Amino acid sequence: MPQKIGKVAMIGLGTLGTQIAIQAAYHGYSVRGYDQDPEIFAKTIQKVKGMMKILGKGPTMPVEEWEKASPKVSLVRDLAEAVKEADLVIEAVPEVLELKRKVWAQIDSLAPKGALLATNSSSIPVSRIESATQRPEKCLNIHFYQPAVGMNIVDVMGGTKTAPEAIESVKEFVRSISCIPLGVKKEILGFCFNSVWRAIKRQTLYMWGNDFVDFRDIDRAWMVFAGMKQGPFGLMDLVGLDVVYDIEMSYYNESKDPKDMPPKALKDKIERKELGVKTGKGFYTYPSPEYANPNFLKG
Ligand code: NAD
Repeated sequence: MPQKIGKVAMIGLGTLGTQIAIQAAYHGYSVRGYDQDPEIFAKTIQKVKGMMKILGKGPTMPVEEWEKASPKVSLVRDLAEAVKEADLVIEAVPEVLELKRKVWAQIDSLAPKGALLATNSSSIPVSRIESATQRPEKCLNIHFYQPAVGMNIVDVMGGTKTAPEAIESVKEFVRSISCIPLGVKKEILGFCFNSVWRAIKRQTLYMWGNDFVDFRDIDRAWMVFAGMKQGPFGLMDLVGLDVVYDIEMSYYNESKDPKDMPPKALKDKIERKELGVKTGKGFYTYPSPEYANPNFLKG
């Protein structure tokens, strides 16, 4: 029998943690949020608000409800307070394996024995984190996309010992917050949709970084082909180019294939602090990116 989830703890309230916490609270869950930086929740709301305007309507909740729902998340000052009554703990701290393992060991010692533990990691399978806990059968990946209110797909993947009921419980949780769970039957880097998105990123970055094409033309083609409001470069700006770089590097570190290495031009952008929407400049300039202009598609 899948276990019932009513209380959720969100650990790490940066870009993704804030969005997941608000979305779960909006859909009626009792959510406690903890971040080592007590200011970050409010700051992230301001940052993500800009993104919502670019995005327009979100399928998981009305965009205009977004900020209004934020007080439903109870911010707490320590990890113990956040997880002590949780049924589901979702971790969204930075993409560093050792940090995640350290945080998971702490969560494991503080959360109720029956609580499910999930990581929102983009590239680290939970099989590499589960041994930091005493409950591998309750550990899993639950991977939200960004922006969470606009992209209502969520990858769900177990580790080496995850119980089928744990997977079912989390899939049910995902459905209950207006998202679509994408089950992953066998461990794969990048989960279900991120592996597909990864192939697109790798090729588009390669074409731009080696000056084959103007990135705007790739975005134009994508917007027409997929009927989306942004192309891959606009989407990477939303994610954050530093985050994109780190994720690409983790694929490269895994394969050591030179073709997986992100182009130097991407690193140069990061050094210039051109990180995308969050710094006002990435491939495009914000808050009014060129692709939002109706003439953009005329080429
Ligand atoms: P972020 O840097 O915006 O947020 C991370 C937060 O974790 C920060 O606010 C930081 O203060 C906090 N933190 C660090 N150490 C902590 C600790 N010990 N205890 C509590 N809080 C701590 O990062 P993000 O973009 O939200 O990414 C978080 C996770 O989500 C990563 O694993 C990433 O791969 C994944 N993810 C990111 C995206 C994206 O588009 N940004 C999409 C899907 C998944």
